[in-house]
Amino acid sequence: MVGIVIVSHSKALARAIVELAQQMVKVPVPIAIAAGINDPQHPFGTDPIQIQKAIRSVYSDEGVIVLMDLGSALLSAEMAVEFLNEKQQPKVKLCAAPLVEGAITAIVQASCGATLEQIITEANNALSGKLAQLSPQEADQPTVSFLTQKSQSHLLSRDLIVKNPLGIHARPAAQFVSIAAQFEAEIGLENRSTNSQSINGKSINQVITLGVRQGHQIRITAGGEDAALALNALREVVENNFGETAMPLPVDLRQCENRGVNTTLRGIPASVGVAMGPVIIYRPSLPQVDEQTCKNPQSEWQQLQAAIQTAQQQIHQIIQSTDHCDIFQAHLLYLQDPTILHQVHHNIFTLGQTVAWAWKTVIEETMTTYQNLDDPYLQARAMDVLDVGGRVLRLLTGRPSPSPNLTQPGILIAQDLTPSEVTHFKTEQVLGICTVTGSPTAHSALIANMLGIPMIVNVGAQLLELAPETVIAMDGKSGEIWMNPDPEQISIFPEKTPITPEQKAITQDGHYISVVANIIGVADAQLARNLGAEGVGILRTELLYMERLTAPTEEEQLQTYREIASILNPYPLTIRTLDIGGDKPVPYLSLDREANPFLGWRGIRQSLDNLEMFKTQLRAILRASQDNNIRLMFPMVSSVAEVRAAKAILLEVKQELQTQGIEFNEKMPVGIMIEVPAAVTMVDKLAPEVDFLSVGTNDLSQYIMAADRTNAKVAKLADAFEPAVLRMVEHSIKIGHEQGIKVSVCGQIASARQAVPILIGLGADELSVNPPCIGEVKAVISGLKMQEVKRLAYEVLELDSAQEVRDYVNNIF
Ligand code: PEP
Ligand code: MG
Repeated sequence: MVGIVIVSHSKALARAIVELAQQMVKVPVPIAIAAGINDPQHPFGTDPIQIQKAIRSVYSDEGVIVLMDLGSALLSAEMAVEFLNEKQQPKVKLCAAPLVEGAITAIVQASCGATLEQIITEANNALSGKLAQLSPQEADQPTVSFLTQKSQSHLLSRDLIVKNPLGIHARPAAQFVSIAAQFEAEIGLENRSTNSQSINGKSINQVITLGVRQGHQIRITAGGEDAALALNALREVVENNFGETAMPLPVDLRQCENRGVNTTLRGIPASVGVAMGPVIIYRPSLPQVDEQTCKNPQSEWQQLQAAIQTAQQQIHQIIQSTDHCDIFQAHLLYLQDPTILHQVHHNIFTLGQTVAWAWKTVIEETMTTYQNLDDPYLQARAMDVLDVGGRVLRLLTGRPSPSPNLTQPGILIAQDLTPSEVTHFKTEQVLGICTVTGSPTAHSALIANMLGIPMIVNVGAQLLELAPETVIAMDGKSGEIWMNPDPEQISIFPEKTPITPEQKAITQDGHYISVVANIIGVADAQLARNLGAEGVGILRTELLYMERLTAPTEEEQLQTYREIASILNPYPLTIRTLDIGGDKPVPYLSLDREANPFLGWRGIRQSLDNLEMFKTQLRAILRASQDNNIRLMFPMVSSVAEVRAAKAILLEVKQELQTQGIEFNEKMPVGIMIEVPAAVTMVDKLAPEVDFLSVGTNDLSQYIMAADRTNAKVAKLADAFEPAVLRMVEHSIKIGHEQGIKVSVCGQIASARQAVPILIGLGADELSVNPPCIGEVKAVISGLKMQEVKRLAYEVLELDSAQEVRDYVNNIF
């Protein structure tokens, strides 16, 4: 093995370099140090004799490489070589590489068994990685610069056969690139079976477009200080078939359909209801961008970094909440893809394009590359580029992607949907929604519930293989989807409960219960009214704030609140102040990524820290309260101090309005949501502070059960039917009543038919439900007897589990 000598003025420096390099090698390398001089007063310096001894100590016929720091070190090293005998001299090379980078590269290469010449070449190239990173302008064409640089040197390489069923498609490519990226070494990848050029193995884009299929031969090339390690790791993943050997090939639904096979798919039910119709595949397109030149490329580039960071946060949130994280892991890699980034950099800095234009151009070019490939599987990857590219572009422009252009009603199929995309759907056109990924408690699902659109999530990638126009039937309650359903399958769909909008919810023994709606905006306010809602129990105002570049102004909010209130009058409109954070990111608020967003800066906590925005919202709500039946509600309350602080700010805003002579309802009721366990245990202290309480069982369940409601793996635990949750609901209602105020329930549970007798039995004064459930909830209440449901409610509190509670109720009703 080639020996290495480190020459430095400082002994400590030389030792540290050796220590660092040894961390990176598994096979020990002969290394000697010749550093510092033997003078306690002046320890820094180099000594030719010491260097000569060091060379001799590691000398073998394979040779020795000497790396040195600066100035006299070179002189001393040259003298030391002259002291060697004639046989040794030609095999000892002084290396011009910078000491730290060069020494580490040389040691790693030596440990991989490289020759004297290979090590010298690699060590001399040791600065290239840093140079490329710090001067991206010079690296506009990474593929070319990669090959040019490395073609001069002797690289480590390995030929392998790819055996996994689909070759290096997106997921294996993501694995390949993730592993490659862990190493400093530059990685090249060639498809030998198609005689391709060597591409950059750290570029997801280039790796996928290489078109490696099952049976192809690839050549992995690695160059750099940790090349051997990188090559080894990459060989391992290819030889392990990217973990895919045991995976069955996906069902080809097009084949099933052509053969007339009646296939059933299953996902997670997210919004009840049944629907049948032709499939409409929704592939979001990129928002409009004007072709403009920029004045300040640096600031454009910074905007891109910020947008990418936010997109990464959004994707990480999706990954936590879905079983299909591989797809989104690949999306993260697209965001770091050096080829894409270098091209965008070039377009901004050299062509003077604005960041949005540059990004859009590069994304479109990348998509075209995929679409032009022969392989249909790889062509489909263009959608991933579109998806992630569109995400960044929406953040850059603040513009939504264009809504789907539906020519006929049908069932919408999508990868996943954002809350705002669902908001834009017209219920008469979108009969149902099925998504590849997604969680039933994500806000997109809640909105589908509110709009009355049946939804099934997490069905899997086969959905996108469906041929357009295939007729499918779906049951949002069971999560089943039938392709080309037969009459028998259609007949099992339950009849919809007839809706009688103006019917009041009065129990058989004369107790009136107010049934109100959960809404997000004007459209569903109207729907709720049409379906018989006697007001709104919660207007989630977040949607007004999301997917925009700036917060909505006071006037914008005022207009929306007034419009909704006028639809509902004389019934009440309960406006919940902003509950941002958690799973609802807002780009312009620069919300840091939090390890536990649901335990983080959300709801009232965020509002109290963001006074300007909070006051703007309170002003708008107060102004809307003039001549309208408006109630104000604070979310995510966990302490009495928060309520007092919020009320103090409300008072300040009221005084400001009074000073300005602006009218509002001075007696506007103020309430809080009970959705944190601390609020339940402190409800006796909180109730005297407010006019009403509203129990938010969605959050309450996740906090009581310690199960993130957006994490598909544990979301099932966050079940409001758990006796643990119901006991908290019971306590909140009881204490609220003792304090003389009304208590409403507004979580998803209030919309569930089986929960209605329990909640009424526990004494809830009002149920706030999703608009499509209003008729059913009213009908259930009308069939109840108070005495009976009181007994039932207290009985279920003694049961052991959510399932037992459901079974118990099912047996009685
Ligand atoms: C709840 O937590 O029950 C609730 C109604 O609020 P959101 O679902 O908007 O968090
Ligand atoms: Mg909540």
